[in-house]
Amino acid sequence: MKLHWQILIALVAAAIVGSVVPESGWWIDAFDLIGSFFLNALKMLIVPLIMSSIIVGVMGLPGGRALGRLGGKTLAYYLATSLIAILIGLFVVNLLSPGTIDGAPAGDRLGLDAGTGQVMERIEGRGAGDVIGIILRLVPPNIVEAAAAGQMLGLIVFSILFGFLATRVPGRPGEVLKDFWDGVYQVMLHMTDLIMRIAPIGVFGLVAEVVAQTGFDAVGPLLVFFVTVLIALAAHLLIVMPLMLVLVARVNPVKHYVAMSPALLTAFSTSSSSATLPVTLDCVESRAGVSNRTSSFVLPLGATVNMDGTALYECVAAMFIAQAYGLDLTLGTQFVIVLTALLTSIGVAGIPSASLVAIGVILTTIGLPLEGVGLILAVDRVLDMCRTAVNVFSDSTGAVVIARSEGEQTLLVDARS
Ligand code: ASP
Repeated sequence: MKLHWQILIALVAAAIVGSVVPESGWWIDAFDLIGSFFLNALKMLIVPLIMSSIIVGVMGLPGGRALGRLGGKTLAYYLATSLIAILIGLFVVNLLSPGTIDGAPAGDRLGLDAGTGQVMERIEGRGAGDVIGIILRLVPPNIVEAAAAGQMLGLIVFSILFGFLATRVPGRPGEVLKDFWDGVYQVMLHMTDLIMRIAPIGVFGLVAEVVAQTGFDAVGPLLVFFVTVLIALAAHLLIVMPLMLVLVARVNPVKHYVAMSPALLTAFSTSSSSATLPVTLDCVESRAGVSNRTSSFVLPLGATVNMDGTALYECVAAMFIAQAYGLDLTLGTQFVIVLTALLTSIGVAGIPSASLVAIGVILTTIGLPLEGVGLILAVDRVLDMCRTAVNVFSDSTGAVVIARSEGEQTLLVDARS
């Protein structure tokens, strides 16, 4: 049976089992063990995979100009799609206005969630200055420490520089470098394949735990917000992305969804685009036919800086909280929200619940108390699964779009076929 079917069956089984078992007991520990084992195994690949894939990708480029062109295109695509996603979110949240009930701010009626303490600790002291922090994170003083702390941006910059300068090493040392990193990369891809064999079991553990503990009861008072986010995410995933695929990449979107299904399901189950990166790379190369040169550069960068679903969610959540507090949402304020959502979506890590920190930053920027984040906690976990899938899909679309613009003809999913 194909892997995506296995994962899908595991997802459905997890939803059923998770909703029938009580929310605490030994089974939660068992789900946690299975899920964490799978997640750890994927995370274990990230640092060597990012380094080797970027170095191999950059070394394969014909020179500095090609690197500049590829980098420019990639960033342009990432910024453009994130902005489109945010604007979709802004439109839908203004239309449905989930933060108001009968025209009045819904803050009091929604009440603040009890579990704010932990999140508050994480976002306390964050502010607009954090956006500037992104620039500093590009050059971490200690690359090993940055890698250990999961700050991938620094690792990416280092790897790009390394790959670029490695091409200037003449003779045998240069060849050895190329072969070595190429070998590391291939081993990482094989290791991904191996780990994905246990994906159905891992996914079962991850999702059963979420369903058993979160359940669907929490959605109740936040239903309109929940639906607003889902509609906006769906519009981006099912309208904007296919349009990109058809019009720009001339690729059949349905075939692309199918090709990317293992990555989408992994993203959905793990809520982490970084942990999904090995699977995304594998799917884009072996199932969507994008060359290693393009995907190994575009995707690691995308997993870190391109988060359409996250950007959209940040905008909708901040607008929702502002509506619930009765803040006057002038055009100026909305502009600030859009801009901060765009910048912070670049800076947040591809890990579960990373958006919460970014939303905290937006709230302080527009003058709202950080506690506002408490309003959305109850539904954040499930929405995280959905936005992460959108993040990963946009990365994969970017890889195909850029591959086509580089003249690649090997795409398996040509719209005309
Ligand atoms: N979980 C998301 C990701 O990894 C980030 C977020 O929006 O919290 O892509």
